[in-house]
Amino acid sequence: MPLPKPGKKKKKDKNVKKTRYCEWCGSPKALLETHCIYAKGGSGPGYTPENTVTLCAGPPNDCHDKAQKYEISREELMEVVADRLGRTFEDIKKTLEGQRRK
Ligand SMILES: [Zn+2]
Repeated sequence: MPLPKPGKKKKKDKNVKKTRYCEWCGSPKALLETHCIYAKGGSGPGYTPENTVTLCAGPPNDCHDKAQKYEISREELMEVVADRLGRTFEDIKKTLEGQRRK
């Protein structure tokens, strides 16, 4: 995915505060991707603050790839979201269940 041009904010990121580092490994140098805990193409709610985590894409850690393969589990990512939003893991999990399309 190409990086958004400065001054031209992408619509999908409207509600999502993107961090400048990987929320999993903390790497500030890698290319960063917004990862949906529940994929948009599946039953996921899309880009809500609870459903998204900023992850590095590419060496050395490629956390985005690990998340896609569930080497980093959804539950682990929910913990990251809970931390960022100052909420509990249970709260995030419940919110995501509610946001998912039936
Ligand atoms: Zn990372």
